[in-house]
Amino acid sequence: MSYDAIILGTGGVGSAAALHLARRGASVLGLDRFAPGHDRGSSHGETRIIRQAYFEHSDYVPLLLRAYDLWRELEQVAGEPLLRQVGLLQIGPADGAVISGVLASARKHHLAVEPLSPAEISQRFPAFRVPAGMSGVFEPTAGYLHVERCVLAHIAAARQHGAEFRTAPVRSFLPEGRGVAVELQSGEVLHAERLVVTAGPWAPQLLASLGIPLTIRRKHVYWFRSSVQSMHASAGCPTFLYELPGGVFYGFPVIDALGLKVAEHSGGEPIADPLTDLRRLDQADLERVRGFVDEHLAGGVAELVRHSVCFYTMSPDEHFLVDRHPEMPQVVFAAGLSGHGFKFTSVLGEALADLAQEGSTRLPIAHLSVRRFAAG
Ligand SMILES: Cc1cc2nc3c(=O)[nH]c(=O)nc-3n(C[C@H](O)[C@H](O)[C@H](O)COP(=O)(O)OP(=O)(O)OC[C@H]3O[C@@H](n4cnc5c(N)ncnc54)[C@H](O)[C@@H]3O)c2cc1C
Repeated sequence: MSYDAIILGTGGVGSAAALHLARRGASVLGLDRFAPGHDRGSSHGETRIIRQAYFEHSDYVPLLLRAYDLWRELEQVAGEPLLRQVGLLQIGPADGAVISGVLASARKHHLAVEPLSPAEISQRFPAFRVPAGMSGVFEPTAGYLHVERCVLAHIAAARQHGAEFRTAPVRSFLPEGRGVAVELQSGEVLHAERLVVTAGPWAPQLLASLGIPLTIRRKHVYWFRSSVQSMHASAGCPTFLYELPGGVFYGFPVIDALGLKVAEHSGGEPIADPLTDLRRLDQADLERVRGFVDEHLAGGVAELVRHSVCFYTMSPDEHFLVDRHPEMPQVVFAAGLSGHGFKFTSVLGEALADLAQEGSTRLPIAHLSVRRFAAG
């Protein structure tokens, strides 16, 4: 049996690529070691922040505008809300990477953001304390995505267009003429015209031939009980991100019985393979996050309700790698999403479908090409 496209890894990006290819009429097989919506890679833990005034680089903004449209389309197909625009409050030094980056992206792309003084923040969002010398910026169209529901919605929609999915680990892939042969751990070999590699934190092994070092970081996420009304989304509490001298911390308002979700974006311990990682609670990490909660959020330290581990796949410059394989043009990939990629998965799926089918895309992804490393 041969397919137009095999997707290796149907988590965040791969599930979206499967939909875009299948709805264009391609025969698609999605392969994943784990069942859809699992918690072993990088696309789990209830929620992900989505925003447009991108402090990391303004080149991402056009992709985000398209991503928003695609999330809204997917909601229509899925018949359930996936994106909640509760807003995002970002706090930091005026000349720090976050505040200055948000304002630069907003200016360049005419995005609505509201710079706020500490007094304005206290009045409007009483859940947050602003450290001396810092200010904030509120992005009203930002918010969060229901992460597992997004993956499952992409898979369900792809199935409606005829895509097949199998739960099976892939051992390797090799070019085969103009196509590709994919070998499963079981020894079975499958064939396709194109391979889309979207293996998340397993990309270092599967895309080693790129010669670009990708490192995996273990990231801890916590949910704390909070009865403080101003921390609830229903009371107008937005998602939040603080750039502090000790690190970058972020979180989500209370949206359900799990409570307040908070984590540190910076740092994270490097690991070799998520498959063998024990995912234990790390007391030192918990204390850092508790310290942040205590100092900056209304209600302070609270009872821990849940802990989860997830993995960042870091590229050398912390920007994504989305391209055709330089030595195997029948292989396209998205990797190294560096802890900020989920919001883009809808549009990266579209870009990968273009690259797989046409060899190029009109979507503005030139800055994500692996050529930047060859040049540097
Ligand atoms: C704690 C945490 C918080 C984050 N917060 C945000 C946020 O707020 N906003 C944001 O935009 N992004 C955020 N991110 C980043 C974002 O979640 C990731 O960039 C994104 O989910 C990565 O998607 P992916 O498809 O690359 O990987 P995954 O979703 O992990 O998919 C990879 C898939 O490949 C499969 N696979 C791998 N190897 C094989 C194999 N050999 N055989 C078969 N299957 C295989 C895996 O099982 C997996 O399902 C966060 C990440 C973490 C960990």
